[in-house]
Amino acid sequence: MLYTSTRSKDFSCASAEAIRRGLAPDGGLFLPSACPRLGAGDISRLCTMDYPARAAEILSLFLTDYSKERLSEFTHRAYGNRFPSPCAAPVVSVRDGVHILELFRGPTSAFKDMALQMLPLLLTEALRMDKIEEQILILTATSGDTGSAAMTGFADVAGTKICVFYPKGGTSVIQRLQMTTNPGKNVYACAVNGNFDDAQRGVKNIFSDKAYGEALLKKGIRLSSANSINWGRLAPQIAYYFSAYVELINSGTVRPGEEIVVVVPTGNFGNILAARYAKEMGLPVKKLVCASNQNDVLTDFIKTGIYDRRRPFYRTESPSMDILVSSNLERLLYLLSGCDSELIAKLMRQLNEDGVYTVPDGMKAALQAEFFACRTLSAEVASTIRESFERDGYVPDPHTAVALHAASQYRAETGDTSPILVAATASPFKFPKTVLEALGQTVPDDEFAMLDALASFTGYDIPANLAVLRGSAERFTGCVEKDAMKDAVSAFAGLV
Ligand SMILES: *Cc1c(COP(=O)(O)O)cnc(C)c1O
Repeated sequence: MLYTSTRSKDFSCASAEAIRRGLAPDGGLFLPSACPRLGAGDISRLCTMDYPARAAEILSLFLTDYSKERLSEFTHRAYGNRFPSPCAAPVVSVRDGVHILELFRGPTSAFKDMALQMLPLLLTEALRMDKIEEQILILTATSGDTGSAAMTGFADVAGTKICVFYPKGGTSVIQRLQMTTNPGKNVYACAVNGNFDDAQRGVKNIFSDKAYGEALLKKGIRLSSANSINWGRLAPQIAYYFSAYVELINSGTVRPGEEIVVVVPTGNFGNILAARYAKEMGLPVKKLVCASNQNDVLTDFIKTGIYDRRRPFYRTESPSMDILVSSNLERLLYLLSGCDSELIAKLMRQLNEDGVYTVPDGMKAALQAEFFACRTLSAEVASTIRESFERDGYVPDPHTAVALHAASQYRAETGDTSPILVAATASPFKFPKTVLEALGQTVPDDEFAMLDALASFTGYDIPANLAVLRGSAERFTGCVEKDAMKDAVSAFAGLV
């Protein structure tokens, strides 16, 4: 299977190279030149497999240059013991036809684990296959969740190092501890005296400093990012939609072949795009529901065909969806345009220069045939969390609450009674303040006391990976000024 860019037809490569490069040479995103298909027989074969085996099956259809044995080894390593639940992505049925796909049972209690447990293995294998000897140095700026998931994914993966910058005081205490107590021998977390944008800008400056990159290469170190547009992050996400469907078959909840509706709380459009790929491959999906928070650029786009990022940015209680430029959308546009890379290059240029673009009518019709969109505001997030707990005994995190609200809106507006699969992207214990407030509880000052309060009110267990943070020693306590980030990287890389 060859991979091509969304923005031109001049370059193609195997999946290992696409994963290694991250972005295509023309600045576009890599995608497979054809979509593999699964028949009813293939889906029923998945029913008897465990999660790692299911994931290996799906991945091997896309990553045809990797050996199937290696992929299977990787999925067992990524989704085996590190996910203590019997299925890495379990499905919980809450009420008449609403089923929750829990994507937060991994080592950092956030959905990013599903992709970031696999990416390091796929990336280091890609380097090995292409006989690239340098060590990889991952650099990331984080506002919280991505940093700890990336550190945990790369921890002690041979041939890699990872350095994460976070804004001092800009994360929750628990998010900071998740990073600063990570025991990996090849990891480093560093506070920046500034906000998230400062940290992000600092990392971008380091990446665009060609002389610095060359100095590192001379030392045998290659800079890389663990960006969510990397195909090596997207491909592992397709697997859990198939797994969820066969879990529903196995529990007798859906008949083989029965159509379901999939609802996804959306930020960078990676998760919902993975569901769209699953549909294209033959998963019986009737509609994809894109759930937005107050940053509703995607909901407006799906309703109007106009993508307009010239709008206020809101900080919400579902911060991982606070995004105005949704980078993975480019892949969907390419697919809906019938692979018209010239058109996509033009639209992306318009977005960059004018902040807005309009898709042709045919694409808009195709978009609306497949997607339903809904925006959820803060008050609705709170009422959804409360209602879900009172009615179903299920406590969603704020991101998942956005999706649950969109699921109810979809049913109310369309009258469709098909089974609904809702992607749940974080444990409620990652956002205890918002959840406690929504449940009408008083919120203690101390974050660990919040976890205790949430556990005792709901009867839920605190995830073990969060509980152990209490009293864990912080290994990384440094803080650098914005303009000294490069020095911190040099020291960690052994350049000085
Ligand atoms: C990253 C993230 C999202 C958004 O996922 P995308 O793939 O970027 O659309 C939603 N919820 C949580 C908790 C996340 O961490």
